[in-house]
Amino acid sequence: MFLTALREAIDAAREHGGVVGVLLLDLDRFKDVNDALGHDIGEDLLRRIGRRLRERYARHGTVARFGGDEFALIIRDLPGEREILALAEDVRRTVARPAPVGGLSLVAQASIGVCVAPEHGTDPDRLLRRADLAMYAAKDSHSGVRIYDPDDDRDTARRLILMTALRADVAAGALTVVYQPKVSPSTGRVLGAEALTRWQYEGRPVPPDEFIPLAERSGLMWPLTRHVLDTALAECASWRAGGHDMSVAVNLSPDLLADQTVAGQVQEALDRHGLPARALTLEITENGIMADPENARRTLDTLFALGVTLSIDDFGTGHSSLGRLAHLPIHEMKIDKSFIRHIVTDRNRRAVTDAALQLARALDLTVVAEGVEEQAELDYLRQHGCDAVQGYLVSRPIPAAAFRDWLAERHAPAAA
Ligand code: C2E
Ligand code: CA
Ligand code: CA
Repeated sequence: MFLTALREAIDAAREHGGVVGVLLLDLDRFKDVNDALGHDIGEDLLRRIGRRLRERYARHGTVARFGGDEFALIIRDLPGEREILALAEDVRRTVARPAPVGGLSLVAQASIGVCVAPEHGTDPDRLLRRADLAMYAAKDSHSGVRIYDPDDDRDTARRLILMTALRADVAAGALTVVYQPKVSPSTGRVLGAEALTRWQYEGRPVPPDEFIPLAERSGLMWPLTRHVLDTALAECASWRAGGHDMSVAVNLSPDLLADQTVAGQVQEALDRHGLPARALTLEITENGIMADPENARRTLDTLFALGVTLSIDDFGTGHSSLGRLAHLPIHEMKIDKSFIRHIVTDRNRRAVTDAALQLARALDLTVVAEGVEEQAELDYLRQHGCDAVQGYLVSRPIPAAAFRDWLAERHAPAAA
């Protein structure tokens, strides 16, 4: 009946102009009332709240109980979002008025999710789902009343759906890997390539910045990394078989540094592909290492002992203590692209890059600059002793087959 009433209200608003508000209300910690005082008292409280809502708001549209401690309101007589939100605040105060129940004076608090048609949709089911999302966001943030925000959708519904799909695709090995070269700015020689993961959901690419954190939160990071490692090492073996003395770089999520089995599995992967340890670089973000240096240390030491090249990624964005940096077992520093951007025109960013280059030289680290997009940036980096550059100027990250072609073409003149 509620959905039918909502459909009618939306149709009427469409015909005559105007908006429809949907309020979904859920009592906070109602279970505690039931548990502490018994179901009779709980039900008495619900009846009182229901009566109050009907008496005060039925004239605005429809008042319904959805079940449990959930109520919903359709508001059809207010001009806009602002008035509907003001009414939602009023609903909250009305619910919170003390209720004399079983000789006690009970106070119930409500979280209220609000959405407005047509702005948030014109389909009753969808509106209700969105009001529900807003209601949960209100509960999470203890904000009382929350209007639907598309981010709530992204954060909850989409996250759950993506997580499930990602889990299946990681298990099926359905993620792909693209490669972006690192070249010497002085000789132009291709020194290696970074392997970057790509994932599509329903035919559309999901950015790594979205699905990597998802994988981290759902325990998928090692299965994902193992797949990337295997794929990238196989690819690297084929470059080397073709006469290119190159390494491949794989990103290692800082979470994995706490896993003592990782180093052993890295060694096994190298063996599987018949590669020496120096053919592999592992990139770990500066923040990741510095977040828990003591714990990271053991795994880093083991990886270092294997002979794998360790690279500190996104350098400049974290909070490295210089003292600590000097004692970490690392070989390479990757200056974050935010500093390389406008290196030629922005004094401050250039200062960080210059300092990083000097620091790297003092600590005997190789320096890679990432995000190089312009020739002037490359020239500057070459003049200042940067060992390798990576960025759109040289090549975007591209699929394995395209990368092999790119490599063949690039080295053909030299070979001739
Ligand atoms: P990152 O490791 O810093 O990777 C470099 C990012 O910069 C890549 O973005 C790359 O496409 C982008 N990039 C390269 N050249 C340029 C340039 O000239 N200009 C600009 N503006 N950007 C450039 P992408 O592929 O979207 O990856 C984003 C991040 O996702 C990576 O940052 C990395 O932290 C993470 N990631 C990707 N694949 C993996 C993976 O397999 N494992 C883990 N742990 N993280 C991964
Ligand atoms: Ca990286
Ligand atoms: Ca980086």
